Amino acid sequence: MPKPTVRVRFAPSPTGDPHIGSIWVAVFNRMFAKQHGGVFVLRLEDTDQNRLVPDAVQNIYDALAWYGLTPDEGPEQGGSFGPYVQSQRRELHQRHARQLVEQGSAYYCFCSVARLDQLRAAQLAAKHAPRYDKHCAKLSFDEVQRRLAAHEPTVIRMNLPAAGAVEHDDVIRGRVTFQYDQLDDSVLLKSDGFPTYHLAAVVDDHWMEISHVIRAEEWLPSVPKHLFLHRAFGWQPPQYAHLPQLLGADRKKLSKRHGATSALWFRDQGYLPEAMRNFLVLMGWHPKGDDEVLSEAEILKQFRLGGVNPSGAIFDQTKLDWLNGVYIRQLPLEKLLERVGPFWHIPEGADEAQDQTWLRQALSLVHDRIKRLSEIDDLINFVFTAVWDREAATFDRSLLVPKQGTVEGARAALNWSVDWLAVFSQPWELKALKTAMLEAIAAAGKKNVEVLWPLRVALTLRRASPDVFDLLALLGKSESLRRVTSLAVPGP
Ligand code: GLU
Repeated sequence: MPKPTVRVRFAPSPTGDPHIGSIWVAVFNRMFAKQHGGVFVLRLEDTDQNRLVPDAVQNIYDALAWYGLTPDEGPEQGGSFGPYVQSQRRELHQRHARQLVEQGSAYYCFCSVARLDQLRAAQLAAKHAPRYDKHCAKLSFDEVQRRLAAHEPTVIRMNLPAAGAVEHDDVIRGRVTFQYDQLDDSVLLKSDGFPTYHLAAVVDDHWMEISHVIRAEEWLPSVPKHLFLHRAFGWQPPQYAHLPQLLGADRKKLSKRHGATSALWFRDQGYLPEAMRNFLVLMGWHPKGDDEVLSEAEILKQFRLGGVNPSGAIFDQTKLDWLNGVYIRQLPLEKLLERVGPFWHIPEGADEAQDQTWLRQALSLVHDRIKRLSEIDDLINFVFTAVWDREAATFDRSLLVPKQGTVEGARAALNWSVDWLAVFSQPWELKALKTAMLEAIAAAGKKNVEVLWPLRVALTLRRASPDVFDLLALLGKSESLRRVTSLAVPGP
């Protein structure tokens, strides 16, 4: 097999719960790789040891697996470019930092925290952007050697040109120009021997043969530094694509204020991973036609990384709920039953739970109305006798009264229904019930809503629920009568 030319990486830092924006970045990376027969790599960027959070790594693995974004190479999968955990590549990073010093592209810096703080305060007071003043770039070779030999704490900083410009052709944004005099000589290697993000990312991107770096907008300002490092090593830099910023519906940066942002929250709420992938791809990119419900194959056919809109992608929760509902409706009932299983709390000991056909029938009544699988209990559990009995104890009877109806009217209608259902002698099934009852309502000179609203509410204890005849058929004669009778106050 020829070597794939497209190699992309998803490079999260295990510093917390994976964010939905992070998964969004992974979706674009994986999709781009798939489109080009390339390789999708997971690299854990754990060099900032102070910010590591227990479980974060496992959560990243879990999230990627759940979203259907399992990498081709990574810490779990292995591969020939490992290790895929940055902290295990420290020696490589240190060697490269020293190489840069030897070439004059980086220098040792011995400045104390106190001096750096003072410098920063003075620059801020003078209304200048704080940046390192290259003080240590001017130290003589001998002085540096002497201080290293004396084991003075030191870091290595990149030695950026003081002036001039860098041009960058971003796959999504086109040409972007950066001025060196706006940039800081960032630290590459810290005093504890750990590399910083800039050094580790560039060295690893090179040695992992990454062809395209697709990442969040916040990393755009790092580009001139990364290009500087690649060039200092004499390497061909990858192509960069910076996704737009993720915004909430109010066009402000997406944050907890807008609702949940944890990637695993969506799993726990009962969104479907295939719906999530479809939804995430539509943030920042739009297919040609109006149809936004797209299969993976369709997305792969149409998607163009260069066609991503750089000016902000909106996370629209309402749209997600709609799209998830569409995907749920497309599931065959059997599949829905399987997937809703972990969310559906069937009361312990419920007789009804013994009968799979009955459960399937109950589920089919709400199939069209589920937007998140976690809504299932609220939508349907009233069908269980135990749940209905519990809820009936605190039920607000005013719900039984239809719009423009009266309490007396509702009571009379319930009594009428009880009498009628009790003597209904045809087979207790949907069609027969519906035809006969509608005829009887008309013959009695009543309106459908006048009878059917209180009846449906009595069966369900809910304002919104499936169709009343479906419910009668599902619940059966004696349970239906029991429910309605217990809410109908005996007539005069
Ligand atoms: N470790 C960075 C992050 O957590 C990755 C930045 C990059 O993709 O270069 O987002």
